[in-house]
Amino acid sequence: MTNSKELFALAQEIIPGGVNSPVRACKSVKTDPLFIAKADGAYVYTEDGQKYIDYVMSWGPMLLGHNHPAVNKALHEAVDKGTSYGAPCKAEIDLARAIVDALPGVEMVRMVNSGTEATMSALRLARGYTGRNKVVKFHGCYHGHADAFLASAGSGVATLSIPGTPGVPEETVKHTLLAEYNNLDEVKELFARYGEDIAAVFVEPVAGNMGVVLPEEGFLQGLRQITSEYGALLVFDEVITGFRVSFNGAQGLYGVIPDLTCLGKIIGGGLPVGAYGGKKEIMSRIAPCGDVYQAGTLSGNPLAMAAGLATINTLKSMDYELLAQKTKELALGLKDILSEKGVPVQVNLTASMFTLFFTSEPVKDFTSAQKSDQELFIKFYNQMREQGIYLAPSGFECAFNSFAHTEEDLEKTLDAANRIKF
Ligand SMILES: *Cc1c(COP(=O)(O)O)cnc(C)c1O
Repeated sequence: MTNSKELFALAQEIIPGGVNSPVRACKSVKTDPLFIAKADGAYVYTEDGQKYIDYVMSWGPMLLGHNHPAVNKALHEAVDKGTSYGAPCKAEIDLARAIVDALPGVEMVRMVNSGTEATMSALRLARGYTGRNKVVKFHGCYHGHADAFLASAGSGVATLSIPGTPGVPEETVKHTLLAEYNNLDEVKELFARYGEDIAAVFVEPVAGNMGVVLPEEGFLQGLRQITSEYGALLVFDEVITGFRVSFNGAQGLYGVIPDLTCLGKIIGGGLPVGAYGGKKEIMSRIAPCGDVYQAGTLSGNPLAMAAGLATINTLKSMDYELLAQKTKELALGLKDILSEKGVPVQVNLTASMFTLFFTSEPVKDFTSAQKSDQELFIKFYNQMREQGIYLAPSGFECAFNSFAHTEEDLEKTLDAANRIKF
């Protein structure tokens, strides 16, 4: 039998790092990746013949669980009709309608193929619409891997950006301004200084890419107010939160309506999809009805549309509150167990997502998130994995619960945590 170890060796010869997205390589948890042979419900099955309870859930899309019958049925029906047309099809309207109906800030929506494409296109549109160049983003928020968003604070220059990776020219990120999450004062300072040239503020309305960090009371409302005052657009990156924190996204949950919304993950039901949408007046600036260019050979792909629509239609009647309740029990249960072992631990959670931070101080931004002890996380991650619990291999990710996880799965997870030695 070919196992994960052998496959990883083969992969590394012809795929950079053996993976097609870096975190999967498990470097930060000092181990090798497991190769997945199949997934079903709440479980992934590896090439080593082992079954794991999955809390990665493809990094978010699989809120219904893997291999969901309704999504599968829709896909099978679609596949028999051909896999791509490069021309309009009815399924595009159906998914667009489902999104527009669910998200209060979205009157019109354009489909793309990934979350990265959605945020990159939304930024271009925001710049085209406002005629301005600068964009505000927050430390620790991830908006895909487009150049303009790959910036972190440079030493010395507190708010002006330096590129976060080689290959991104300084010129490309010089328009990216950074602020700390939950810090309205920093945003106000940026606007006081550059307000006339700021096209948009991009924010994860609930942050999920530094681990789960919730917006403090008034933060999103404050962003709404400042952006409106200066004529800048407020862009919610709901690639994770859309259809997860509530069926109506974070905008529905918090009652703050952004000008533009970026989507991905869940709306593709496991197929490669992204979308950006918003007010009609703004979206009408996109080609061909407007002058801001954006295109895609496979955009609106009929298989992706079918999987997304089946997912959203099924989610409509699911009990989000019950799932939130179960997730809370699991997350708080884990916290109690680890605390009893004398480990400092914080838990941030909302709906079906949570993160355990190994620190004794509350986590409300990237600075406090980074205080989480990664040595403790590595011990936690590896011992959970040895016991059949599959978590994201980074201390700055969320764990995703799903509608497929059973009470028994959650109990097994707690039992595994009980057996960990630090
Ligand atoms: C995953 C993610 C993206 C990027 O989506 P891809 O499909 O990986 O390109 C953008 N924004 C947020 C908030 C994400 O979590």
